[in-house]
Amino acid sequence: MKITVAKSAGLCFGVNRAINIVEELLDEGKSVFTLGPIIHNPQKVREFEERGVKIAETLQDVDENSVLVIRAHGIPESTENEIKSMNLDYRDATCPFVKKIHNIVLQHSKLCDIILIAGNQNHPEVQGIIGYCHSEYHTFPNSNDLERILKENPHLREKSVCVVAQTTFDVAEWKKSLEILKKLCTNLKIYGTICNATSVRQSEAEVLASQSDLMLVIGGKHSSNTNKLFDICKSKCEETYLIETAGELPKSALKKACRAGVTAGASTPASIIKEVLQTMTEEIKEEMKKVEEGEENFKELLEESLKTYNTDGRVKGVVVEITPTEVRVDVGRKQTGIVPLDELSSDPNAKTEDLVKIGDVLDLKIMKTNDQEGTILLSKRIIDSQKGWDEIVKACEDKAVVTGVVTDVVKGGVIAVSNGVRVFIPKSLATARKDDDINELLKKSRSSSERECKDTPFFLTSKTFFKNFQRFFAYPDFKTIQPPTSSYPRFVLPSYRA
Ligand code: SF4
Repeated sequence: MKITVAKSAGLCFGVNRAINIVEELLDEGKSVFTLGPIIHNPQKVREFEERGVKIAETLQDVDENSVLVIRAHGIPESTENEIKSMNLDYRDATCPFVKKIHNIVLQHSKLCDIILIAGNQNHPEVQGIIGYCHSEYHTFPNSNDLERILKENPHLREKSVCVVAQTTFDVAEWKKSLEILKKLCTNLKIYGTICNATSVRQSEAEVLASQSDLMLVIGGKHSSNTNKLFDICKSKCEETYLIETAGELPKSALKKACRAGVTAGASTPASIIKEVLQTMTEEIKEEMKKVEEGEENFKELLEESLKTYNTDGRVKGVVVEITPTEVRVDVGRKQTGIVPLDELSSDPNAKTEDLVKIGDVLDLKIMKTNDQEGTILLSKRIIDSQKGWDEIVKACEDKAVVTGVVTDVVKGGVIAVSNGVRVFIPKSLATARKDDDINELLKKSRSSSERECKDTPFFLTSKTFFKNFQRFFAYPDFKTIQPPTSSYPRFVLPSYRA
């Protein structure tokens, strides 16, 4: 994830100045009071409280021997006069840009101009500005409210009107408001008092938000400029979050983001921005670690699965449990290997305990894995059949003897199991004499001999092989055995005469 931090993020000149005034007083060992929280940042306010700074709600709360600090938002003229009349020791940390607005409205109200203030009436800064208005004044939080005010007060169109803005007022709303005013009011004096730091911060945040898929606005939830930043960013980036500290980072959203933008309100100390960035970096590192571990796990799984498939789906299993219906084997994996009885041998009459014993190592073919149940279905019969098939083919080529056990009497002959392969022996080749009862052959070992092969050879050319293959070996078990290729050599079916 790429993180871009807005150049304008963080403490503005005015707030920084106010903080420095408090710091200096604390360093001098003074008892400090602030009239309301020094900035709209709970973390910084708490830090100051821990260092002994007290917040006064009214002037009466302030101790005589303390120093009162007026915050950057400023105060009404009447409050300042009261402080003076009470002979309180005080430092004025009102931002010079705010102080400039006080002077503008004071001067114009002395001229009996009507004052229009673009801003939130309940905000301390606007309350301070109102305190310097000695003539008619109106406040409007947005251009819609301005239209309403102009409608309800038609005299504003003719009178001399002075318009100012709260330093953190939304730049776009300000422009809209001016368009309305310019159209309707004939005697207008406009003062662009939005703080440059604010307009730069807002326009930079807007651009950054439109280039990001996640936007973080760091700042106090009660901070006017931080909330405005949030609204601006939200309009450009749906995944915009307002957080006060690193602890509020939206971790799940962070995982999905590729480009994260970070901005911060005018009252957000650099230490908080740094902490958020550090935590984000750690989160990213953690995610990267997980991804890398995931890749490792994937590699392991891949290697494990390749191990299986590299051996053509074969595994070795050690018999660990024998039941009448199945054998359980350890195949060196998390899953339990299961070999059902009918996959243990081609002989339908075989019993598990006769075929294997605990500790036997079996060559097995993987038939199916069930990850939910953690089992692997395995077959010994298929491996035996594959091996047996090759041995039978070789024996036939060599005209060698193979032995088998007759397991079934079927129409037209018998089925014998030889080297794990079910072999069909036609009745005409299964008995010595035509009238012999083939049922007598059941469970008896039969063998082919070199002599018999020679005597009763079945030579099948590659051309006729498949036809006869179908005829002699068209049993379900053989579906799993690779059929020979068309270029397969001549094949001799051994006879199983006693
Ligand atoms: S935002 Fe601007 S006006 Fe407000 S305190 Fe900061 S520097 Fe001063």
